[in-house]
Amino acid sequence: MAKCAYHPDVETNVSCSNCGKPICPKDMVYTAVGIKCPECARPVGRMTAHGKPRDYAMAALVGVLGAIGGGILLGELLSVVRIGTFIFSLAFGYAMGEASSWAARRNGGLAYQAIAGVSTVTGLAIAGIASGALFGLFFIVGAVFATVVAVARMRG
Ligand SMILES: [Zn+2]
Ligand SMILES: [Zn+2]
Repeated sequence: MAKCAYHPDVETNVSCSNCGKPICPKDMVYTAVGIKCPECARPVGRMTAHGKPRDYAMAALVGVLGAIGGGILLGELLSVVRIGTFIFSLAFGYAMGEASSWAARRNGGLAYQAIAGVSTVTGLAIAGIASGALFGLFFIVGAVFATVVAVARMRG
């Protein structure tokens, strides 16, 4: 048993998973990576899963604009260039992931990943309809990979 770092009169056998400081039940903060002391549980940079409303708004905005703008552009490109559908779709997914990640300020929370994934799928659907490549095998395979890439990028 050790003395709680915050309450010297309290004995505890729990310590912060980050700094190892002994903490009693009053100080414990339950996080995805274990029990932490109040200091270590404080949000730091990309470790936070909870973004500010502004970040979500930015990510969503970039996602929507990217999906529409990028989708139309990609559609134009695919209807002119009939080869390389797979590569272009993949590049689009990568770009969408990068853009959303940037908008979310490298904050790879689940909600942001969802935004990146949805925008990529939406953008690809727009591109597919615009270029008529929607049901092409390369396009579909490219789209699946693009979405995976976009979501993976988001994870940081
Ligand atoms: Zn700590
Ligand atoms: Zn305490």
